[in-house]
Amino acid sequence: MKTIENINFHGERVIVRVDYNVPLDNNKITDKTRIDASKETINLILNRGGSVILITHIGRPNGYQKDLSCVLIVNAVSEVFEREIIFCRSIIGKEAEKMAKSLKPGQIMLMENVRFYPEEVNGDIEFAKHLSKLGTAYVNDAFGSIHRAHASTTIIAKFFSKKYCGKLLEREVNAIEKVIKNGKKPILAVIGGAKISTKITIIQSLMNSVTDILVGGGMAYTFIKALGGSIGDSICEHDFCKYSIQILESAKQKNVRIHLPEDVIIADAFNNDANRKISKINKIPTGWQGLDFGPESLKIIKPIIINSKTILWNGPLGVFEFDNFSKGTIELGNLVAEATSNGSFSLVGGGDSVLAVKKFGFKNKMSYVSTGGGAMLECLEGAVLPGIRALR
Ligand code: AMP
Repeated sequence: MKTIENINFHGERVIVRVDYNVPLDNNKITDKTRIDASKETINLILNRGGSVILITHIGRPNGYQKDLSCVLIVNAVSEVFEREIIFCRSIIGKEAEKMAKSLKPGQIMLMENVRFYPEEVNGDIEFAKHLSKLGTAYVNDAFGSIHRAHASTTIIAKFFSKKYCGKLLEREVNAIEKVIKNGKKPILAVIGGAKISTKITIIQSLMNSVTDILVGGGMAYTFIKALGGSIGDSICEHDFCKYSIQILESAKQKNVRIHLPEDVIIADAFNNDANRKISKINKIPTGWQGLDFGPESLKIIKPIIINSKTILWNGPLGVFEFDNFSKGTIELGNLVAEATSNGSFSLVGGGDSVLAVKKFGFKNKMSYVSTGGGAMLECLEGAVLPGIRALR
């Protein structure tokens, strides 16, 4: 992929596909991290004499939806870039093209939510062609949507010879490569979260690059059940028991160590105020369920985390949304932060682990926190994503 590093954008109208799919509450942005994350790319283009046409989606609209209009984010974009933002209600057509052509260097125009057109998600080639007419160059910086072959994330690139990856996209891809392609060993992957079914392909692909895998969270119980343990009422995907045994066998063949929790915090109901106690993970009584990593498990995993030179963290170790069951995830965060401060490279990615890292104040203590959930997971699975292929 060509980067924007040495490109002169003088006089260019640059379409930048960003991911401003920000959370909105009552028509107000509650977190503008995604807008901030695009700053470097956009400022670089503006400083090198270009004008910028921002294309994004918000949510999953079904045709025009007032509560998902990009007009709701104009002020936030304006604050981040400290300039007036021109808003274009039409996404394609004569009016939009006229507005785009009249942009002067240094100006930013934000287009309306591109998903108001179903053609976007369908990857419609005619729609992509119309979009391309707005600019003279194309930059993709929407890592969160790079795994989608949509019109503005992938198909549009066909119509440009000047097409580049933005700084955010470059950073994300580099961070992932730092783990799966050129990670310093020992490499530890912490895979937590609720279900094994959503992580199985990742675990399988990671076995080709990492030395250790810590299985935490709800998915550990499927492994324990498959190994003949008693897991009480803990979450379990029975259909995946056979599969989890295959994973353990394949790990042995590949010399990858899989670490399962020894003990867990169990609860007599799925809520924060439930009664709780420590239990061996394979001896959980009926009526009880495992909701957090236990103290003995943390003791065992501590030296493995501290000694890892590369750490990937995807998914919480317990039901971190409940204060009483968040200790394992917080302790994991502390240990990964300690390893990072000692020089290890840590990458956190995937929706809930990013939430946990933010919630418990670890964001600035990790080497890199990914902005893309699904995209990052697909990258880790080793797929060449459509948006990346299109830029090549
Ligand atoms: P995922 O999206 O697969 O990363 O799953 C994240 C979710 O897993 C979080 O909402 C956690 O509350 C949940 N989770 C983690 N551990 C457990 C557990 N032991 N039992 C049930 N849910 C869990």
